[in-house]
Amino acid sequence: MDLLSKKARGIRPYTAGEQLRDRKYIKLNTNENPYPPSPRVREALAAFDAGELRLYPRPDADLLRQAIAEKEGVSPENIFCGNGSDEVLALSFPAFFDPDGAGACFADLTYSFYEVFAAFFGIPVKMVPLRADFTFDLEKMRAVPCRGYYIANPNAPTGVGIGRAEMERFVESVPDKIVIFDEAYMDFFGESCALLALRHPNVLVVKTFSKSYSLAGIRCGYAVGCEALIAGLRRMKDCFNSYPVDAVAQAVCTAAVGDTAYYADATAKVVSERVRLQAALRGMGFTVPESRSNFLFAGRGRRGGGEIYRALKEGGVLVRFWDKPVLSDFVRITVGTPAQNDVLLEQLHRLS
Ligand SMILES: *Cc1c(COP(=O)(O)O)cnc(C)c1O
Repeated sequence: MDLLSKKARGIRPYTAGEQLRDRKYIKLNTNENPYPPSPRVREALAAFDAGELRLYPRPDADLLRQAIAEKEGVSPENIFCGNGSDEVLALSFPAFFDPDGAGACFADLTYSFYEVFAAFFGIPVKMVPLRADFTFDLEKMRAVPCRGYYIANPNAPTGVGIGRAEMERFVESVPDKIVIFDEAYMDFFGESCALLALRHPNVLVVKTFSKSYSLAGIRCGYAVGCEALIAGLRRMKDCFNSYPVDAVAQAVCTAAVGDTAYYADATAKVVSERVRLQAALRGMGFTVPESRSNFLFAGRGRRGGGEIYRALKEGGVLVRFWDKPVLSDFVRITVGTPAQNDVLLEQLHRLS
C-alpha cells in the first residue's frame, strides 16, 4: 500500500546544490557570499535574550519590516517577510495565479524552482526560450497569454541582468498582468525595480538575505509591492505558517539591513573579483555571458560542463553542474575570495 498522495509520488522536487561535508571544499557551487555577515549580526546574536525564545515571534516581523522599508524607501505596508525568498516565491503562486487561469510565464532557462512551485500548486506554465545571447525575449513574453511573469534579474543560472528602464517599459506594457521580479542577486547589479512597485500596482519585487547579506544560514527573504499584493501574500502565509520568520532571524536581519556601509564594501569586493574572474575565464577560451551577479556561467564546448565539474571536485573545488540539455555545456561558478578564485583558475589552467 502506498500511503503517499499522487502529488507526493509524482512531483519532481527542486534539487539544491550539494552541501558536502566529507572534506574541506572551496565551495563555489551555491552562490553563497565568501565574506562573513556584518559585525552587527554577531552583536545582535550576542545580545539576543534566549529567554525570549519561549514566545512565538512577531507573526509579521514588524520591526524587521520597518527596517527593510527604510532601506528600500517604502513603507512597512509594502513589505512582506518569509522564510527565505524561496518561501515568498512559493506563496506568490497561489496568491496571484489560479489552476484554471492563464498561468505563469517565465524563461525556459531561469531559476528552476519556479517550475516546481507551479507544479506543486497546479498552475499552468508558459515558457519562452531565452535568446541566443542568453537575454530575456521580452517581446515574445509580452505577447504570451498569461496571468503574470517571473523574471529573475539578474537571471540564474546565466547571471545576465536587464536595466531598470527596460524593465519599467516591460511592466508598463503589461498593466493587467503581475510581474514578479526575483532580485536575489540584484545588489551585485544595482538596477533594482523595488521602487517601481510604488508606481506600478502590478510589480512585486522579491529579495533575499542569503546572497549579498551573507545570511543564507538564517533563511529570510522579503517582497516589496503595493499593499494589495502584500495583503495577498499575507493571506497565503496565514493559511500555511503564521510565523515563518523566527525571532533570531528577525533580530539578525534587522541588524544586518542597517549596515549599508559594510555591505556596500563586501559587494564591491565580490563585483571586482567577478570582473577579474570573467576576464580570466574568457582568456582561457570559456564562453561567459556578461554577469551582473555573484556567479559566472561558463562553458567550453558541447557537454563540457560535467567534465569540468568532476575534475574540479577531485581537486577540492565545488561548482554547480546540471546534466540537462544546454545546461550540460556549462558550469556555474560562484565568485569567491581572491585566494579561492586563484585556486579555481590554477586548477582550470591545469585542465586545459
Ligand atoms: C538563491 C536564490 C533564491 C532563494 O534564496 P533564499 O535563500 O530562499 O532566500 C531565489 N531566487 C534565486 C534566483 C536564487 O538564486
